[in-house]
Amino acid sequence: MTMTGRFAPSPTGDFHLGNLRTAALAWLAARTSGRRFILRIEDIDRQRSKPEFEARQLADLAAIGLDWDGEVVRQSERYGLYEDALRRLQADNLTFECFCSRREIQEAASAPHAIPGHYPGTCRNLTPDQREERRKAGRKASIRLKTPVTNWTVTDRYAGSYSGDVDDDMVLRRADGMWAYNLAVVVDDAAQGVDQVTRGDDLLSSAPRQAALAHLLGLPEPEYVHVPLVLGPGGKRLAKRDGAVTLRDIAGEELDPARVRDVIGWIAESIGFAGVYDLSELNLSRLPKEPVVWRP
Ligand code: GLU
Repeated sequence: MTMTGRFAPSPTGDFHLGNLRTAALAWLAARTSGRRFILRIEDIDRQRSKPEFEARQLADLAAIGLDWDGEVVRQSERYGLYEDALRRLQADNLTFECFCSRREIQEAASAPHAIPGHYPGTCRNLTPDQREERRKAGRKASIRLKTPVTNWTVTDRYAGSYSGDVDDDMVLRRADGMWAYNLAVVVDDAAQGVDQVTRGDDLLSSAPRQAALAHLLGLPEPEYVHVPLVLGPGGKRLAKRDGAVTLRDIAGEELDPARVRDVIGWIAESIGFAGVYDLSELNLSRLPKEPVVWRP
């Protein structure tokens, strides 16, 4: 399959400048390495995802000059692929049903010997009778990965070698039937031939987990490019509280070309190319490792 990079937004709101900058960096990483660039809409969260947000996100990307190959793909149309992957893991005895509520997990996880933030193993070794009992009591189960490894190391273009714990028995499908992000992202990246994952470095800590899951599914591990986030003037991750932070806040609903040009110029400057207003003239050679602060 052809080498491919991607941007995979969740259509849960308008992009802020940080999202747009990350999209531009993903596009540049792919285009400057001769890759295809695809867009995947990560709309598995049916409550928060809205078609109108998707339409606005795509319009914003096009307005700053990004293009993509092929049709836009939506995760909500790909449940069969996630089902197949889950079946493969089940056939390898790598899953288990967990009947615990979030609260029960939290309580068990705060016991004296528990590792903070880790799944406390409550349902990992239930007997068939115990499972039946819970089912009879009307409890719905999530499906978790019975993780056979404790730690995984990935290579990231900016962070270098990065290791993380992967022994938290990640959820693959929630008790309400919703597919988990980690499973969907791993399955889709492989199915779409994605061999380069560029995204915000808030997801760096998820990469070992995703790479370990890819390995268990016999799928290739992509190259990771986790890029620094944009911070608001207060030093925290850029968000609505920082005022005018979306393209439409700045350029209006009509996406006034002069104001859009300012935003393109800001993205270019933030990666070391002051005075450039066309993203196709950029590359990632001067990308600073530090987060960038947005000052309106
Ligand atoms: N859909 C995720 C988000 O919008 C990004 C997932 C990814 O790039 O792996 O935060």
